[in-house]
Amino acid sequence: MTGTSPVLLVTGGSRGIGAAVSLGAARQGWAVAVNYVSSKDAAETVVAAIRDAGGEAIAVAGDVGSAGDIESIFAAVDRHFGRLDGLVNNAGVVDVPERIDEMTPQRLDRMFRINVTGSILCAGQAVRRMSTRHGGQGGAIVNVSSMAAILGSAGQYVDYAASKGAIDTFTLGLAREVATEGIRVNAVRPGIIDTDIHASGGLPDRARDLTPLIPMQRPGTADEVADAILYLLGPSATYVTGSILNVSGGR
Ligand code: NAP
Repeated sequence: MTGTSPVLLVTGGSRGIGAAVSLGAARQGWAVAVNYVSSKDAAETVVAAIRDAGGEAIAVAGDVGSAGDIESIFAAVDRHFGRLDGLVNNAGVVDVPERIDEMTPQRLDRMFRINVTGSILCAGQAVRRMSTRHGGQGGAIVNVSSMAAILGSAGQYVDYAASKGAIDTFTLGLAREVATEGIRVNAVRPGIIDTDIHASGGLPDRARDLTPLIPMQRPGTADEVADAILYLLGPSATYVTGSILNVSGGR
């Protein structure tokens, strides 16, 4: 099925920031491929909400920590929509708080495979489809970094912070690499955002506990991060590339 709407792939679109991006993008007229790794029901709920509002969406299973799964995710988008105009590299994981002297190779492998290699491989697939060099129509990529890239996350998860530092550097390099091929590449650095990710790292109250450190004295919402991502994806940002926008309440 090839429609007229621009098509956006959101990795990790089933929950949190990715779900907010998927819903917001659909409201702006994007057809959305909502990727998830294990929460099929949550992804289907996002898809149903988009369709109920008259939009187009599909749920696409796949682990961005697996090169083979990434191929299948993009193949599913090709089969269903026949085009790709945007990618939000949102899927990402933290881990439980550990000092460097406790971290195992397995932990680091998972963290970097999902957060870094996954984002880079997804961007490569998107560039093959969107770049004018490959006969594409251009497009936009937004990577989801973190304020951790700047703050370092000492005593909590320096590996996660380093993975997001890699995303910052990748954003700059890729933006310059494809700047003449119709593709803009930007990133956001969310601060402390109220989603399930903190519980997945064993700290369900992290957003509340860190509130005193946030100049605005509150965590951000997934919708507030989604708004910044949608700006970078959209027609108001046509001269913006290689930029990294902090969405952190001043932190
Ligand atoms: P979340 O609520 O934990 O949601 C994570 C999403 O990513 C889910 O949709 C999950 O799918 C998906 N996902 C996880 N591992 C995946 C994999 N291997 N392959 C495909 N999808 C995968 O997280 P969030 O807080 O919205 O975070 C989204 C992004 O923002 C991440 O990159 C995170 O590092 C970044 N970020 C978050 C914060 C924050 O405070 N929340 C701050 C800075 C940066 P399932 O539903 O199937 O599990």
